[in-house]
Amino acid sequence: MNDFVIRGCTVVDPKNNVNKLTSVAIKDGKISEVGDNAKGRRFANFDGAVLMPGIIDTHVHCSNWIGGPASFKMLARAGVTTALDLSGPADVVLDQIAEHGSGINILITEAVYPGVNVKDSNPSYEELNRLLETAISEGAIGFKLLGGHYPLTPEACSAAIKTAADRRCYMAIHAGSVKNGSNMKGALDAIDFAEGRPFHLAHVNSYCRGAVLGRPKEELQTLLKALNEHREVISEFYTARFNGTGGKCAGGLPESHVTRNCLRAGGFPETEAGLKQAFEASFAHCVRENMDGLNEYITGRAALEYWKEMDQNVTCAFPVNDREVAFLCGTSKNEAGEYIIDAVATDGGGIPRNFLLENGLLLVDWGAWSMDDFVRKTSFIPSRMLGLTEKGHLTPGADGDITVFDPVTRRALLTVVGGKVVWGGNALLGGGGTLICLKEGRGAAERRGLPFKTVDLEESMLYKGR
Ligand SMILES: [Zn+2]
Repeated sequence: MNDFVIRGCTVVDPKNNVNKLTSVAIKDGKISEVGDNAKGRRFANFDGAVLMPGIIDTHVHCSNWIGGPASFKMLARAGVTTALDLSGPADVVLDQIAEHGSGINILITEAVYPGVNVKDSNPSYEELNRLLETAISEGAIGFKLLGGHYPLTPEACSAAIKTAADRRCYMAIHAGSVKNGSNMKGALDAIDFAEGRPFHLAHVNSYCRGAVLGRPKEELQTLLKALNEHREVISEFYTARFNGTGGKCAGGLPESHVTRNCLRAGGFPETEAGLKQAFEASFAHCVRENMDGLNEYITGRAALEYWKEMDQNVTCAFPVNDREVAFLCGTSKNEAGEYIIDAVATDGGGIPRNFLLENGLLLVDWGAWSMDDFVRKTSFIPSRMLGLTEKGHLTPGADGDITVFDPVTRRALLTVVGGKVVWGGNALLGGGGTLICLKEGRGAAERRGLPFKTVDLEESMLYKGR
């Protein structure tokens, strides 16, 4: 007998060519049956809803540096069952999961952070290799370059990509180096620096804000052409209008180069004084936890006061993402009819833009995506990116990760992780979480008493190809 059965939903599972009204059963944390006759001790009925393999967000932030402890709850509420933290540090994220987790699965990449975990912006292959070894033993699956925020030299970017490829680890890049910033040129550089090695290019949309050519759509077309010629590079974009960056200043200047770019884009001086003006003009926003323990945006004088009160250690956001670029990131295909950008992610987590359902389903309503496309881009392809062969589909024996959503309100009604309900549509029911790490990282989970699973990145699109 199955543990429980979910009925009344249109079940969408592109890998198995399923898109019909039927039932899904779970037993011992795994998918046990998809079919009209599934029987179980308990059942839930969701008439009119859609049931899909659990949403996998390949770009979130859950650490103290960006995102914060509210991120796990926000992700579960948004229907996310598995998320890739794209900054770490791994040890901090793990401590956060233990204390603030919502029961979802987390993978972590460790940011290379000049002056913090490497000595400066030009670390050697050996220094990066040592950092990667430590990060993996702390539970990370690989590296993240924070190019846009904290750039490295071109040589160090190349060395970091080589280190990760040599160890067959994950490699995610926010483009930008000391040569070119977080823009179209920086993104083209990243492909050059990799010298044919695979990596995950984060948030393609964010390099197309007009900084190089003055025309965001042309910048995107240039990047799409390069991505189509370099199919070893896997990529995602996000749909939110707001970006996310740091508010910390030093010597009268914002530390993050992205923050400076945003101020310039809004017509403000690229200085600490300019940031203050941008708060007062309600162009700069801050992320702050509300009474419900969830993060939200604030702006104007309230944001300025909060930024001061927090000693500038806040996540800032600016309305800088071009809307047409986001649409084209989602819909552009190559001559073979394949989407050029693999997945849609959020760059969310603790930044309040976990919009996979909210915005992604608008594209389905509009007819730009089929429901199958939506599920492929938010679950199946992300599972391939991360080498999670037991996720992204509802084959009997696959992990019991499920998202049920209302296609009209575009809200998650049920988030199930490993057969356990973590979000019931109006209440969070999960805690803790499962770390997905390389086999060298198991000790980091065991020390904290956290459940873990290991992943073999040979199964990732990075090393296996499409
Ligand atoms: Zn990010």
